[in-house]
Amino acid sequence: MMRNNSTDSDSQANSDIAYPTQSLDWLTRLIAFDTVSRHSNLALIEDVQAYCEQLGLTVDLTFNDAKNKANLFVTVPAGENADQLNHGLVLSGHTDVVPVDGQEWTSDPFTATIRGDKLYGRGACDMKGFIGCVLTLLPQAVKLSNTGQLRRPLHLAVSFDEEVGCLGAPLILADIKARGITPDYCIVGEPTNMAMVVAHKGISIYRCRVHGKSAHSSLTAQGVNAISYASRLIGYVDELAEEISHRDDTLSDGDAMFDVPYSTLSVGTIQGGTATNIVPNLCEFTFDYRNLPHMTQDDILIPIQAKVAELSAQMQARAPETGIELIQAVGVPAMTDSDSAELQSLIATLTNDEQRHKVAYATEGGQFTNAGIPTIICGPGSIEQAHKVDEYVELIEIERCDTFLQKLLDSCTIK
Ligand SMILES: [Zn+2]
Repeated sequence: MMRNNSTDSDSQANSDIAYPTQSLDWLTRLIAFDTVSRHSNLALIEDVQAYCEQLGLTVDLTFNDAKNKANLFVTVPAGENADQLNHGLVLSGHTDVVPVDGQEWTSDPFTATIRGDKLYGRGACDMKGFIGCVLTLLPQAVKLSNTGQLRRPLHLAVSFDEEVGCLGAPLILADIKARGITPDYCIVGEPTNMAMVVAHKGISIYRCRVHGKSAHSSLTAQGVNAISYASRLIGYVDELAEEISHRDDTLSDGDAMFDVPYSTLSVGTIQGGTATNIVPNLCEFTFDYRNLPHMTQDDILIPIQAKVAELSAQMQARAPETGIELIQAVGVPAMTDSDSAELQSLIATLTNDEQRHKVAYATEGGQFTNAGIPTIICGPGSIEQAHKVDEYVELIEIERCDTFLQKLLDSCTIK
């Protein structure tokens, strides 16, 4: 089992401030597992599983097809006889982290290092800090469960492959549905500086492959120019983006809370052609769109598909083997705040902060709300530090998260 037992002076907390050592120990332990999305997360999952089983809990694992990655779902049961698994509150986080390739880190990204009032390491804020805090709280929750004092079950859901398109969480959701567990609420601990995020946009990424027909550039009539057709489609994507940004009927009251208060759509990459004197037979580009919660992803996709069909028909009239392929690379649904009013007021009470936020980055929250589980995002650290070189979490944020979770547990406890 990989375990970081480093005790050098670098990793000691600033001695005159009492920081939550247990949560920091857990965070350090989690960071030591290199769970970059392209790698297996099983060592981390096995470590958490062993810990939960020592506490007497039964974990549920769901695997990817290659069986080298797993989600873990575990319930601290409630009720007088500690037999109630249904309802309750899910605390959710992802185990995978983004790569460190090409980044010049000051210290090893997989060795948690405290400098000043910050803990550095890949995943420090996105989002092993939250998971560490929840794991720290777990023994206390189990004790309350064993004495019949836990009023509502607490679930921990940790997933794989969030960073590459939220691929793990749907397996958890399908699994608990099959087991008849319908949680009342979910809190996703992505970094929000412990503020309450009540909604986010959806994200879709598409790869578009335009198959034309090669010919010498002096014989254009014999070819079908893939770049030319790609550029027509890109022109259409830009027009649609412009139109969506002005479409009054797509705006709802709450949308003004987004930094960009409309759905966005833009082309990101393009490749095509081999030589100036050859009519190109292939051009590929990608585009990304971020839909407001009350718009569906189809609202944007369907007109693009219609344009693809129109242009493909034109191309095929000239050469039947040509055409345009549209391939979805990422599709993460928006998170809506439509049903979470009760959860929002609970969080506002626990954090002493009424302020609600809406953001443009996507999380697994949309998958939870789509499954009928009202969800908010609230976790330690800042999204500003996520994915960056020398990612860190401020120690005070971990402390704030511990306090928040403690209050949350208190609110679930029969005194
Ligand atoms: Zn994240």
